[in-house]
Amino acid sequence: MNYDDKNIFAKILRGEIPTKTVYEDEYALAFPDINPQAPVHILVIPKGRYVSAADFGATASPEEITGFYRAVSHVAKQLGVEDSGYRIICNIGPDSQQMVPHFHVHILGGHKMGHVLA
Ligand code: 5GP
Repeated sequence: MNYDDKNIFAKILRGEIPTKTVYEDEYALAFPDINPQAPVHILVIPKGRYVSAADFGATASPEEITGFYRAVSHVAKQLGVEDSGYRIICNIGPDSQQMVPHFHVHILGGHKMGHVLA
């Protein structure tokens, strides 16, 4: 799947759609999900043009991959869920219901969750 520069997260990265920045560095941007599913629900996206986690893992540089996942851990700590625990989810492709074709990790936390895998 080719990257579509018109997707909503590309527009957020370009500053065309406003969002509340929770964290930003050279590799990642984190902002609240517009439709939160938990008391803490933050999206973390890479700065590069990657459609999904599969695309990111296959084509991003080691520096981008390390920088991105360090940012995810940093955001969880910043949000105060590091010790209580949290869930990270990334949907890949149609069967997973991925809606936005720019790789993103959901950080969900702030309450006790059920053990759901599918
Ligand atoms: P997906 O199903 O692709 O893993 O999740 C996409 C997420 O993006 C959804 O949880 C949805 O609520 C969120 N989302 C969609 N449009 C926007 C938007 O314009 N701003 C923000 N902050 N989140 C959005």
